Amino acid sequence: MTIHRRLAVAVLAFLGVAPLAQAWGPLGHSVVAELAQRHLSPAAKAEVEHLLSLENKTSLADVSSWADEIRNDANQQDLWKNTRGLHYINFTSEKCNYVPPRDCPDGHCVVAAIDHYAEILADKKQSDATRLEALKFVVHFIGDEHQPLHAGYRDDKGGNDYQVQMNGKGSNLHRVWDSSLLLTHSNDWKAYADELDKRGMVTLPPTIAPFDNSFAQWAEESCRATAQPGFYPKGHKIDDAYVKAELPLAEERLRDAGRRLAEVLNIALSN
Ligand SMILES: [Zn+2]
Repeated sequence: MTIHRRLAVAVLAFLGVAPLAQAWGPLGHSVVAELAQRHLSPAAKAEVEHLLSLENKTSLADVSSWADEIRNDANQQDLWKNTRGLHYINFTSEKCNYVPPRDCPDGHCVVAAIDHYAEILADKKQSDATRLEALKFVVHFIGDEHQPLHAGYRDDKGGNDYQVQMNGKGSNLHRVWDSSLLLTHSNDWKAYADELDKRGMVTLPPTIAPFDNSFAQWAEESCRATAQPGFYPKGHKIDDAYVKAELPLAEERLRDAGRRLAEVLNIALSN
């Protein structure tokens, strides 16, 4: 069974039993990873701990920004060049509907990357080192995919070309969403994860059906979020009103990402 199909089955089972009630910078990635870690099944937790122990790490948060960090590692430049385009997807339609040949040519986008690395992670025939690398990519890319501007449609490089003013300083909308917005609330990822976890389980949107397309659906949600009125700030200014209006969306995306990452890992590492 493919990871898609297993995810579909598990999500359906999960909903059937109990319908329960969100590239980030290091803060956002750590929050997502920590939220996921808290919702791992015993089997997945044991396997995650085993794989992380290869690098003397103990938590998913420890490795959640590795896929970005290799950019600055002289020994990992080939890997960085081959994977730098996997952190995002640029939708070419404002309808935000995922059409693989158009939006993800040659499988080179975040949607296909999650699928690819989740399959490797689930494959016990692969070496532990290969599966650990896949785990690190899955943790990072599911986080990235939930940052709305990693899956936008406008021709502004995911907000990187959209200049804004925040606290009297120049920035761009992508950077605001990666980090600055969350940092208005906290710079302590553990405390932030505590706080978001207390808000309870997230509801998986009922539109996610037939579930074997979840990774694409999550990107489509991000894309649609960037199209909401007000997402692009009036007058290019990030003020208190913008933070008040948009921080809840950012936090919802973190919660969704964390819960969904746990689901993917629970399925991939179920036996
Ligand atoms: Zn990234």
